[in-house]
Amino acid sequence: MPNQDPCATSHIRSVLLANVDGWFVSPLCRRPLISPLAAMIKSHQFPPMFSFGIASKLKKIVGRDSVLDRAEDLMLYEYDGSLARGMPNFVVFPQNTEQVSAIMKLACSEQLSVIPRGAGTGLSGGAIARRGGIVLSLARMNRILEIDVANLRATVQPGVVNLDLSAALAPQGFYFAPDPSSQKACTIGGNVAENSGGPHTLVSGVTVNHVTGIEVVLPDGRIAQLGSKSANAAGYDLPGVFVGSEGTFGIATAITVKICRLPESVATLLSIYDDVQDAANTVVALTTEGITPAAIEMLDGWTLRAVEAYVHAGYPLDSAAVLLIELEGLREAVDEQAEIVSAVCRRAGAREVRRAKDENERQLLWKGRKTAFGAIGRVSPSYYVQDGVIPRTRVPETLRKIEEVGKKHSLTIGNIFHAGDGNLHPLILFDARDEQQTRRTLEAGREILEFCISVGGSITGEHGVGMEKQDLMSSLFSESELEVMGRLRKCFNPDSVLNPQKLLPSTRTCRETVMPGHASLDAPVASGAELR
Ligand SMILES: Cc1cc2nc3c(=O)[nH]c(=O)nc-3n(C[C@H](O)[C@H](O)[C@H](O)COP(=O)(O)OP(=O)(O)OC[C@H]3O[C@@H](n4cnc5c(N)ncnc54)[C@H](O)[C@@H]3O)c2cc1C
Repeated sequence: MPNQDPCATSHIRSVLLANVDGWFVSPLCRRPLISPLAAMIKSHQFPPMFSFGIASKLKKIVGRDSVLDRAEDLMLYEYDGSLARGMPNFVVFPQNTEQVSAIMKLACSEQLSVIPRGAGTGLSGGAIARRGGIVLSLARMNRILEIDVANLRATVQPGVVNLDLSAALAPQGFYFAPDPSSQKACTIGGNVAENSGGPHTLVSGVTVNHVTGIEVVLPDGRIAQLGSKSANAAGYDLPGVFVGSEGTFGIATAITVKICRLPESVATLLSIYDDVQDAANTVVALTTEGITPAAIEMLDGWTLRAVEAYVHAGYPLDSAAVLLIELEGLREAVDEQAEIVSAVCRRAGAREVRRAKDENERQLLWKGRKTAFGAIGRVSPSYYVQDGVIPRTRVPETLRKIEEVGKKHSLTIGNIFHAGDGNLHPLILFDARDEQQTRRTLEAGREILEFCISVGGSITGEHGVGMEKQDLMSSLFSESELEVMGRLRKCFNPDSVLNPQKLLPSTRTCRETVMPGHASLDAPVASGAELR
């Protein structure tokens, strides 16, 4: 089976091996093993029937072993990392831009939706077929096309795994800065579509700050070059517009990114607290002092204990919270800053500040942070990860609010934050088999995001809107703002062939024009029925 999708393979592994590996544990990957047909009927996701003619046309374009159309294969692509699910009719694995273009032309003429897919680690349902269609996996377009150190650029195919690019650049002293915690699995195409960030967003920015050129296959199959190797292309910033469009504008088939020089020195501090509010206040204090570390990550006591039991990263089990603070730059400057930051942490209430003494210890501390979601998957049948943004000065009150929401709905909520840039990831524990609990979980997630909006924040910092948060877009943006977004989407994707029913809400002003035969947008969005 030509399956190179970590989400799909993790599904198989987790069913068979009960999640022992755990780079990522989707709650949905823990369903009882039942026959594919029974599972489809049970989930009411049986796809509409399409003629066998389409399968053979797709096979003609990409080859026989690059099309999946059997139910038992398709069901592995019902998922991404979110709670949503939806069954495609076909999964195709093109190997070059021309094949992607031919698939898009076929999809247009057959009025089929196309859903681009990288590694399927997305957390908002972006890679899921809401109403059938073709999942177009970029997993086999995974070559690094060029490394141009002199111009500080690399060009990659979209299926290149994020960390693989940095690994290829390391011998020459460079790396690719966006570092999502999923970087061992997620693809650069997915990073572009979601405008992904990571712990080092604080100092490096998000993906859009690192992309200068994108080759794109438009929904009608035409191939366009947005931007170039040069940082200052004339005219509108089309790569900037494309990044973060969540697969609704076109399919990225080659991406030119900036590469960064590895810092001369890095210091990683673990600041340990007896009170979670002191940890939150430290983030504010560091800002007030005018210090910008490369990363400030926070784990609360509940979360760090779950992580410690799994990874043995060295987080103290009796603490209420830890901050993982990283500083980078020239050796002398880093040493000096480490002293200043330690002093600020202590003044804000840290009981202890440890500095990783070598690279092994540093990697272990980060392993704890980066495998946190997997660690939570070991202790709860399901979890729902949220992705709110708040001004970083509002971290203390937001933590109090999250606690309140947890109590109100009788749910345990762990907290893990990109604290430095106010991007929070509350992890709500629940059991997806319990409908009532699932409903309370969704409601709790919504209340947290509404609070984020009320303090001047946003409903996503990096995981995207997808099919999970569309209805909250109307709380964040005005009608006219949504209308502009709707028009922009129509410029690129007039018939909503690509990733229909995602990102924008189904309000009057930004309603999608759907081709005849496509599902109507009046269908309910992101409801409990689709989110399990
Ligand atoms: C354990 C874990 C930790 C995570 N940590 C982070 C984090 O720290 N920061 C962060 O930002 N995210 C994080 N994520 C979310 C996720 O990994 C990112 O959103 C990632 O960029 C998705 O990449 P992917 O290749 O898996 O894309 P997919 O999930 O396959 O797709 C995501 C979206 O991109 C579109 N897409 C994919 N490829 C293309 C393409 N070539 N052209 C056009 N559209 C395309 C899809 O249609 C979909 O809408 C995490 C996820 C997990 C499971």
